[in-house]
Amino acid sequence: MICTFECTYCKECASKTFKNTCPNCGGNFTQRPIRPKHLLENYPASTTIVFKPKQIK
Ligand SMILES: [Zn+2]
Repeated sequence: MICTFECTYCKECASKTFKNTCPNCGGNFTQRPIRPKHLLENYPASTTIVFKPKQIK
């Protein structure tokens, strides 16, 4: 799942933990689109993982 600022979370966290509200910007999530295979060759997915765990209150 992805927000308008491109914060991404797995479906379960986005819907259950964050209740469809991004903890960073307060916006909603939508399903992150799939990048087509033929484009992955020229535009590979980033290998840099940004991991910022959230504190659940
Ligand atoms: Zn966000």
